[in-house]
Amino acid sequence: MKRAHVFLGPPGSGKGTQAKLLAERFALTHMSTGDILRDAVSKETEIGLRVKAVMAAGNLVDDDTVNGLVFARLQGKTTDVLFDGYPRTLQQAEALAEFLSSRGLELGLVVDIEVPEAALESRVVKRRVCSESSCGAIYHLDRKPPKTTGLCDLCGSPLKHRSDDTAEAFRSRMETFNATFKPLQAYYEGSPNYRLVDGSGTPDEVYEVVVKIFEERA
Ligand SMILES: [Zn+2]
Repeated sequence: MKRAHVFLGPPGSGKGTQAKLLAERFALTHMSTGDILRDAVSKETEIGLRVKAVMAAGNLVDDDTVNGLVFARLQGKTTDVLFDGYPRTLQQAEALAEFLSSRGLELGLVVDIEVPEAALESRVVKRRVCSESSCGAIYHLDRKPPKTTGLCDLCGSPLKHRSDDTAEAFRSRMETFNATFKPLQAYYEGSPNYRLVDGSGTPDEVYEVVVKIFEERA
């Protein structure tokens, strides 16, 4: 590994989907913090058990623990890495910079997918999910409505509006998110590697823009 690319963006920006597609296309190792944490939990290591307790309490895992788990994953990686959900705080960004420079590695592109909050709110509030848990299909009342109102196209089960998909729950999540995100964004904004991407289009449109950014850099 020579470079680590970073993907930024609020929850619901679609950055996870974009990161996965991009990693495939450019043969990068996709590293999602969510996956890394879940993996640690499932292995029930000492750290894993601690992470499990923190997550079960609905809290964020502390910076040092996340940094440690992420850096352990970077050992022996031969391909460049694309981070998804990391760094998520200013402290993590600084730790990453130190880790990279101490090993003669570079920060790659920092792609920041920006979606206006009103659009994000609509994505959440108008989201409906299939109530059959084995199906789990996801709809949007405007962008991807079901063929029959209130019923899943795939399995016919009723659609439901999740309790954390309300406007109030969304705003509270955004407030928490912005408190740590704004300083992180400010940290990267001045970097020559930073690219702000308009994430309000369709996933295909956003993907096209991001691919171009990576092609220009390659
Ligand atoms: Zn269904």
